[in-house]
Amino acid sequence: MIENSKILVLGMARSGTSVAKLLSKYKNEVIITDIQEQEKSLIEELNELGIKTIILNNQSDLVDESYDYIIKNPAIRKDNPAVVKAKKLGIPVINELEVSFKFLPADVQIIGITGSNGKTTTTTITYEFLKTLNKNVFLGGNIGIPLSSIVENIKSGDILVLEISDHQLCDMYDFKTNISALTNLSEVHLDFHGNYETYKNTKKKIFNHQTEKEVAIINKENDDSLNLVKNITSSKIYFSSKKCADIYVENKKIIYKGQEILNTDDILIKGFHNYENCMIAIVIAKHFGVSNENIKNFLSTFTGVEHRLEFVKNLNGRKFYNDSKSTNNESTSIALDSFQENIILIMGGLDRNIPFDTLSSHLQNVKCILSFGETKEKINEFASKNHITSMVFNSLEEATIKAYELSEKDDIILLSPACASWDQYKDFEIRGKEFKEIVKKLI
Ligand code: ADP
Repeated sequence: MIENSKILVLGMARSGTSVAKLLSKYKNEVIITDIQEQEKSLIEELNELGIKTIILNNQSDLVDESYDYIIKNPAIRKDNPAVVKAKKLGIPVINELEVSFKFLPADVQIIGITGSNGKTTTTTITYEFLKTLNKNVFLGGNIGIPLSSIVENIKSGDILVLEISDHQLCDMYDFKTNISALTNLSEVHLDFHGNYETYKNTKKKIFNHQTEKEVAIINKENDDSLNLVKNITSSKIYFSSKKCADIYVENKKIIYKGQEILNTDDILIKGFHNYENCMIAIVIAKHFGVSNENIKNFLSTFTGVEHRLEFVKNLNGRKFYNDSKSTNNESTSIALDSFQENIILIMGGLDRNIPFDTLSSHLQNVKCILSFGETKEKINEFASKNHITSMVFNSLEEATIKAYELSEKDDIILLSPACASWDQYKDFEIRGKEFKEIVKKLI
């Protein structure tokens, strides 16, 4: 718990305002600042709680010895002048999750899930599994629910499932979990961390303070993950979608500790990457005693996290999937590798001048590509180079209607754009929602 302290909160996004509100209840003097103008109603709400709000460009001008803590939004870089100045003055710089951790009662079972890809999917499945227990289970963290907004409802004995990003791990020190999972590691967010080594070592903090009493769940297929955990003392449980491990897939069966948990045919979301996400969640579920039946019941109806290879509809034998979150070649490759059926691929969007060539080796099941958005002509050229039928459209709607017209029974109609949405949409969520609306209207 933090009380009777003077605290400067950098950043007025959701987690910043939430932690400021929490701290204001515990006799702290809280000042929150942002460089951007904020909604008047938010400022009024905070001021009514006694929180001082300051909109200012040079936030380092605010930092002086009088502060006990600086709480920084995860997106603020470590070379931000206010952060540098605070560290020089010896003021602890921590983040919202670390603060909230200090408010948790003892004996809460904390599960932390991180990794380069698959965090939200794994966290969601884990939470849904644990909800079948007769216990209080909470969901929070990077998934859009600041821990500070729920921490006061959590009691001893409850279970807390947290999605944790590398940006959050940067400013976490005392935080400790009972179970930590690292989905995988790949070279992402290097602009933020400076280099891959720093990124990996930041991810390693998910295992901080763990002893053999705590559990670390690790990807056996991922060398970088294996190397990273060599020296940690946690009890390690390995998962693999390819070879024998503590939990693995063999002949379409997920086997854990020698026992068949379920058949992959009973899992609605597709792709080995998703089986990996499911396996992590299964390890955690079994740790708490969730039955195989409840695991199967959930996975046989779970259509996926919205916009991540999300199953939308089966219309006359054609299955529609919304993978609008795939904004680069890597994600679209994963989506394409997830199906054995013929695929009609709908793609396109913002032109970042990145060639599509790395998709070439993932096109085995693609029978045609329908493109839209700024990149449509480039995609058309890419398709013809790969001898794949291709058509260009002005809108996602036109492309989707044509995809359905061209499709045959058992085909997959997949929106996996491989491009950001900003040429035609505010964000990938709006693009995905529009796709689902279009599909709903098809008959
Ligand atoms: P995150 O929260 O880490 O961004 P998500 O669960 O939201 O991850 O999935 C985002 C995208 O990452 C998916 O659409 C898919 O392309 C890819 N992905 C998901 N799980 C995995 C995994 N286990 N391994 C590799 N890629 C994955």
